[in-house]
Amino acid sequence: MIDFSLTEEQKGMVDLARRFGKDRIRPVALEYDRDGTYPEEILKEAHKAGLMYTNIPREYGGSGMSHLEHYLVTEALNYECCAISQVIGISHLSMGAIQLGGTEDQQKKFIGDMTKSYRSGCFCLTEPHAGSDAGIMNTTASRKGDGYVINGSKCYITNGQYADLLCLFATVDKSKGTRGISCFAVPRSTPGITVGRIEDKMGHRAMNVAELFFDNVEIGRENLIGEEGQGFKLAMMALDRGRANITAVSTGIARRAFDESAAYARERVQFGQPIGNFQAIQFMLADMNTLVMASRALYLQVGWMLDNDIRCSKEAASAKCFASDAAMKVTTDAVQILAGSGYMKGAVVEKLMRDAKLTQIFEGTNQINRMVAGRALMSDSSGLF
Ligand SMILES: Cc1cc2nc3c(=O)[nH]c(=O)nc-3n(C[C@H](O)[C@H](O)[C@H](O)COP(=O)(O)OP(=O)(O)OC[C@H]3O[C@@H](n4cnc5c(N)ncnc54)[C@H](O)[C@@H]3O)c2cc1C
Repeated sequence: MIDFSLTEEQKGMVDLARRFGKDRIRPVALEYDRDGTYPEEILKEAHKAGLMYTNIPREYGGSGMSHLEHYLVTEALNYECCAISQVIGISHLSMGAIQLGGTEDQQKKFIGDMTKSYRSGCFCLTEPHAGSDAGIMNTTASRKGDGYVINGSKCYITNGQYADLLCLFATVDKSKGTRGISCFAVPRSTPGITVGRIEDKMGHRAMNVAELFFDNVEIGRENLIGEEGQGFKLAMMALDRGRANITAVSTGIARRAFDESAAYARERVQFGQPIGNFQAIQFMLADMNTLVMASRALYLQVGWMLDNDIRCSKEAASAKCFASDAAMKVTTDAVQILAGSGYMKGAVVEKLMRDAKLTQIFEGTNQINRMVAGRALMSDSSGLF
């Protein structure tokens, strides 16, 4: 049965996110974007409102939402500002591997501790020479006694400067390639972790992105998530969830760009009538709305698959590519419709266009996501229907 209706509880979740976004995020979004301000006060309030650890189970301090519910909330928050909202929702990716591979005790200890604060976590995979080819990472975890010593560095880590808990990928045996990579839960307070460069970015400017260094960071065996050598697989499984999340992020960005454009088209008068009367503008708006609808349908499908434990790597990768390309197109068209006033600094659509670009780059570039989907289709081209 196909049913797009939301339960009363789900409507309440979306309504809470919309109100929070409108009251708390919208008033500061442009200012924080201009200054690259870390949204500390907003995070504190999102934490109190139950919007931060949405799909972490209640017993570990989260709100216990399903994936699909988390994505609905994500679209609603990202409508207002994706930079601020992605820090609010960072635990969805950063804790994904720990949720997937950690024992009950590990989840209770690491995730349960983290959810007490608003600083949340971060996902540490990328290194300077290992971006798309993350499997060639150099960060090592050498066995010492019953534990490990971590040495190396990570770059472009979202929330890296502030996160309380690091989900870190490091190699225990480089000769084994991706099968030598393990996943570790590393509390920020562990001695030997330092923060390097803080990135100054084109978009997503209120989202903190940092370089991290690990210098003889000693951790115990209890910090190893899953088995030794299982880390890369856990990272890829967490990224399936993350890519569905970027689909919802992109939907929020595109919907806002559409709404800004439609409102402007109703008001802006040229040649004696609103520009929305011109078919050239109506066709652009119709296509923009179609892309928003299709992007939303894709995250609903992948969210449903995740909630029903149906393997969805190719669907998540395809959804991420589609929705992020859609967000780039819709925001570019929005600037076209607002024309001069949309191109100027301080215009909402100018920010949206810069913000949209990142959705095509992180959590696997769209080239890599097309590879993921394409390879999977070569071995299994079956779909849901
Ligand atoms: C703002 C921001 C936040 C980020 N947050 C995080 C984070 O929290 N955690 C984390 O671990 N990482 C994070 N990243 C890293 C991000 O995932 C990488 O930037 C991304 O995976 C691409 O790696 P790269 O930038 O090194 O590009 P490269 O891998 O060097 O790619 C360069 C170009 O080559 C293309 N390319 C590479 N290989 C192939 C191929 N086989 N076939 C076709 N084309 C190819 C790419 O698509 C791209 O166009 C973040 C990045 C940014 C910009």
